[in-house]
Amino acid sequence: MARIDLVDLAQSYGGPDAAPDSYALKPVSMTWRQGGAYALLGPSGCGKTTLLNLISGIVAPTRGQILFDGVDITPLSTQKRNIAQVFQFPVIYDTMTVGENLAFPLKNRGVPKPEIDKRVAEIAELLDLTPVLTRKATRLTADAKQKISLGRGLVRSDVAAVLFDEPLTVIDPALKWELRSKLKALHRALDLTMIYVTHDQTEALTFADTVVVMHDGRVVQAGTPEELFDRPAHTFVGYFIGSPGMNIVPARVEGREARIDGHTIALQRSYDRLPTGAKIEVGVRPEFVHVAAPGPGRLSATIERIDDLGRVRFARVRVGDVKFSARVPADFSISGSEAGLVFDPARVHIYADSRLVEGVV
Ligand code: ATP
Repeated sequence: MARIDLVDLAQSYGGPDAAPDSYALKPVSMTWRQGGAYALLGPSGCGKTTLLNLISGIVAPTRGQILFDGVDITPLSTQKRNIAQVFQFPVIYDTMTVGENLAFPLKNRGVPKPEIDKRVAEIAELLDLTPVLTRKATRLTADAKQKISLGRGLVRSDVAAVLFDEPLTVIDPALKWELRSKLKALHRALDLTMIYVTHDQTEALTFADTVVVMHDGRVVQAGTPEELFDRPAHTFVGYFIGSPGMNIVPARVEGREARIDGHTIALQRSYDRLPTGAKIEVGVRPEFVHVAAPGPGRLSATIERIDDLGRVRFARVRVGDVKFSARVPADFSISGSEAGLVFDPARVHIYADSRLVEGVV
């Protein structure tokens, strides 16, 4: 396994002279820690697969370098990069047994037989494939075949990294949860650098120590699930992560106050030097604004709908033209549609042109 550094890496399928905005991957510099469990998260078309394929060498970058443990491997082929990749759909040999499939990547590299047998047994055990090791792969279900693909990706202990591209797409929903947790356990047991591409936030947050969020060809934030929840660096992270997503509303901000629709809310930090001409927005997660009876100091709101999610209720409210999601406290009894919104000042963030602004405490 290896530490992976991306240095000013960018990819344009239209060639280097295409407009910078059209690049599938806009220039990015970042480090992927040796032995880390990463998720690459973002909606369809944001550039996740492109970034993964640049790391594995399937795609050559338009500019920039990729370093493995400080060595520039950008010109090297996929084979020479020593990367294992697991795709959406099973890539296995139907005519071979499960055990032969798992052994294949090791056999190919001339690993001695006793070592192959040991490693295959270990991986089969971790993936619950031991009972079917001698069965031909062809007769197995799509789920089991994808488990073999995962096993083939994980069987070599000497790879620089294992890359997963939406590997649970074909897996039955009931099994997904189990396999997701299993992959996390496999990461702990095998101590490999893993990068897992998904557009599903639950998959990303369950699997990864660090989630790398992409939007429109850019890496907008890399952080722990807690960091992404508590301090989204970009408004996109705020509303893409969380359910419901973060409220992001236009505001006028001066010092320790934000004005939304003519009402003032208090801020914990002071914002005296916001960039002039920037689009200023307030971001607050629905968990940190709650509905209460109307009253002084509370933002007046009209309740449009209550969603009961079992453990928690959220109200869909309107403040002037602006829509909000807000928590409904367990002891709040709703009478009529008029309400007041109460904010937790420590959890209210300010964004300028979609980027988080660090206020002064
Ligand atoms: P998905 O989740 O749908 O796979 P993604 O986040 O992995 O999406 P990419 O597949 O990396 O996104 O695509 C990023 C952009 O690059 C998209 O606009 C896509 O249409 C474009 N693109 C991807 N591959 C090619 C290609 N071989 N030639 C031209 N354009 C491409």
